[in-house]
Amino acid sequence: MNINKNRLQQHFEAMSLVGKIGETGTCRPTMTALEKEAFTLAAGWMQDAGMKTHIDHFGNLIGRLEGSNPGLSVLMMGSHLDSQPYGGRFDGVAGVLCAIEAVKAITEMGLKPERSIEVVSFADEEGWRFTKGLFGSRGILGKLEPGELQRKDKDGITREQALIDFGCDPQKFRESEYKPGSIHCFLELHIEQGPVLDLAGKPIGVVSGISGPLWLTVKLKGMAGHTGSVPMPLRKDALLGAAEIIVAVNEIATQVPGNPTVGTVATINVFPASRNIIAEECVFTVDLRDIDLDRRNRYEKQLRERIAEITAKHKLSYEITEDTNSEPRYCAGWIKEIIGGQCKALDLDAPELMSGPFHDALALSYACDYGMIFVRCKDGISHNPLEYASYEDLALGAEVLFGTVRKILNV
Ligand SMILES: [Zn+2]
Repeated sequence: MNINKNRLQQHFEAMSLVGKIGETGTCRPTMTALEKEAFTLAAGWMQDAGMKTHIDHFGNLIGRLEGSNPGLSVLMMGSHLDSQPYGGRFDGVAGVLCAIEAVKAITEMGLKPERSIEVVSFADEEGWRFTKGLFGSRGILGKLEPGELQRKDKDGITREQALIDFGCDPQKFRESEYKPGSIHCFLELHIEQGPVLDLAGKPIGVVSGISGPLWLTVKLKGMAGHTGSVPMPLRKDALLGAAEIIVAVNEIATQVPGNPTVGTVATINVFPASRNIIAEECVFTVDLRDIDLDRRNRYEKQLRERIAEITAKHKLSYEITEDTNSEPRYCAGWIKEIIGGQCKALDLDAPELMSGPFHDALALSYACDYGMIFVRCKDGISHNPLEYASYEDLALGAEVLFGTVRKILNV
């Protein structure tokens, strides 16, 4: 191996202490002192690998290894160091730390690429704090949407304020954007977050593409009243309507057994949330994903019809907001071939597989060719402190990433 497995493991262990919860969990929200601490740690390793580092105005940590021809478009790699509120040690972290290790191996071997390499830890990939993710990776491409800076977290802090508190200047976003054509390609290593590789007994997978998520927020409005006195037929119970819609989401997503479609309601807010007041308002989120966009669109239509039916039945008014709507994005054939070749060279039988979760690579796919390497994660568990990938598998992934970078840069 060209990468240093022990060093990589030490980096994972050190990073896992930042925002540690319980024995093996992580809570490292985006744009907080904890993420800043993680950035400081990672920036030190980037500098040690020969990179110059800075935090841009979107809150991304960027390390750059200057090539001998700095005018060339860059090879970009990375992922994210922010975590879910109840997350694990590897989601996102793997992509940043393995990329740093790949660059470190390049400089240690004295290789001098012509093209510059950048390693990025993107701001707010996870999307739970302001209920919209991929902030940093969309930001650098000029793809933020109107109103994003006014989105608030649960404490009422706007994204704009969080950025300013983090040391960024939203007035200067332009300075941190990448011009079209300035990124040659993007590589992201990530734990699979699903069970396919684990079930197949394979440590590494070559990603074929990312299925697109549709994120909706549904708001139902009924009428509050005393739970002891309002007769059942006269009620306008927003929570009852929400319950039926949640079941409908599940039915729609599972109508054809074996399909990769997934549909989930995982957050719900009830107003006024008192045990003896009928719920007047209910707001919940829907997450619908499929690698087949036509099917996903058909299912979305079904869901909207069911919402109309169910709310009519319970005499509720409703509002549906679309927060995110991305189409499936496929990895570049030439990068898949290179990654596959590197796996073969290491005697790895690496299957090709789709990614259900989205990643920063999804945003980058609109700006350049991209490729992804998946590392096996135990039982497919992720977004959970139990998330686990072995250091052996992660080292293999870093080695494949290193070989891929070398091949692309021709060094
Ligand atoms: Zn991730």
